Amino acid sequence: MKTILTTLNAKYIHTSLALRWLYVANKDRFDISFREFVIRDDVHKIANDLLALNPDVIGIGIYIWNVEKSMELSSLLKSRKPKLILIAGGLEVSYEPEHFLNTGTIDFVVSGEGEFVLGELLSTIANNQYGNHSRINIESVSYPHHINKMQAKVSLPKLAGLPSPYMLKEDHEDRKNRIVYFEASRGCPYQCTYCLSSLEKGVRYFPLEYIFQNLKYLIGSDARQVKFLDRTFNLNHEHACAIFDFLIATYKPGLSFQFEMIAELLTDEMIYQLNEMLPPHYFRFEIGVQSTCEPTNQAINRKQRFDILAANIQKLVDGQKVDLHLDLIAGLPYESFERFKKSFNEVFALRAKEVQLGFLKMLRGTSIRRDAGLFGYQFNQQAPYQIICNNYLTAGELKRIHTVEQTLQIYWNSGRFVRTFTALFDIAYKGRYFELFDEIGQYHETLPSSGRNFQLEDIFLHLYKFLLSNGIDLFRELREDYYSCFKIRTRGFWENRMEKKKRNQLRYQIGNDKKFLRTYQLTRKIIEKQTAIDAIDEKNLLLTVFCSDGSRMNPLFLNYPIG
Ligand code: SF4
Repeated sequence: MKTILTTLNAKYIHTSLALRWLYVANKDRFDISFREFVIRDDVHKIANDLLALNPDVIGIGIYIWNVEKSMELSSLLKSRKPKLILIAGGLEVSYEPEHFLNTGTIDFVVSGEGEFVLGELLSTIANNQYGNHSRINIESVSYPHHINKMQAKVSLPKLAGLPSPYMLKEDHEDRKNRIVYFEASRGCPYQCTYCLSSLEKGVRYFPLEYIFQNLKYLIGSDARQVKFLDRTFNLNHEHACAIFDFLIATYKPGLSFQFEMIAELLTDEMIYQLNEMLPPHYFRFEIGVQSTCEPTNQAINRKQRFDILAANIQKLVDGQKVDLHLDLIAGLPYESFERFKKSFNEVFALRAKEVQLGFLKMLRGTSIRRDAGLFGYQFNQQAPYQIICNNYLTAGELKRIHTVEQTLQIYWNSGRFVRTFTALFDIAYKGRYFELFDEIGQYHETLPSSGRNFQLEDIFLHLYKFLLSNGIDLFRELREDYYSCFKIRTRGFWENRMEKKKRNQLRYQIGNDKKFLRTYQLTRKIIEKQTAIDAIDEKNLLLTVFCSDGSRMNPLFLNYPIG
């Protein structure tokens, strides 16, 4: 009996650790392998690829990002090979198995951590008991007219005894191009009403020795990005410190680690250590703030001390070692448009490298979905179950926040406008960050090309024109930011400021100015091929030299009559 495990990842760089655990837990007992696809892959091609392997059983990992396409795939597979047995697992199916079994395409649903349950189910199927459903009674396994929602839980020390899912030969070739997902623990003790992790009880930890052994292997491999999946990495202070110490002691340039952290639990000692010992950009912390509105936090069951959280984040920002990513959620109970603005501005004021503005999703199985009526939620019935409006936010206001989110991605999270925005926050919009992104977004909406993907030049030009329309001229900062986006000489978004003929003539003149070349250790070739020339005024030029190694020389200001 041949079994294939599969899932559709959101992006090619993502990898499914769940699939790898299922594989290592069962590979010695069954004829089993795994194949990953990406949601943008053609569903017919995925079905062809899977059926070409001639499987008897396919196990599909179903999550919020792939549920629609996974169900389409299941139905296609079943229509092409009716005897194929389909087993679904994953967070999306675990809490409402009946919904998926009722589609008539899924044969079994495994709820919870399926590593060992899958083995039991495959044995039962292999022993030919399938067909006589009444004889199948495996905890956490549901099939039509037999629902067992018990969430399977595995012992992590038992998992640690399996062949490592981080050392698979299947990953040797491509590890450097993908994110490696890693677990040091499972479970979350918190009870946020919108989150499926709140339904698990207790937190379990992998043995430290096991963690170190696998991290050592990954550090020695060509992995470049490792993301810890732990829901609250620093819940156990000693455990987190031990892993941080290990990673700092084994630092390897070019490799980075990401963690989901609870900022209030950071101690001064830990922050001091990180700020002192950590190589820059080695760690990235994702910190969920979600809202600064107290009634909102109470309604979603989040006990938050924003003053402590903000103070700790500020210390990390000041230390400039950890890359910080702060999360906010729009559409939570009791948070109106005006109150959301306040949350946004308070969080943005911390000036983290990235602020992720997410939108509430009514996930299957969560208590907020169950209580949707209490807050007047209307939401999309199709995944990802985004809300349309609630008692506090209209559909129009939510749309406006979506536009802010897009503008935030383009102008802040991209990291391309640091000089411009730093200057902008000093002269205007201090504390009014939401208003700024909102106004830029509204300005974009008025452009004829609105809705299309803007080119980089357009993005700069639109911001320049938006600022000018508000009486703010930050051309110099924008130009500097613009050049920072490139490693080779580029056309400016302001190209029409100097004629091409004039520019070439200046390049020729400067390229033959031996004294100037000697002073700055430049050559005629560098001036002609690698140097951008901009007029500051009628007598002064700015030269930007793009070096062969991808860096840029400090800007050169040159007194040169332009004529
Ligand atoms: S949102 Fe984070 S802290 Fe809250 S239950 Fe989910 S994983 Fe835990």
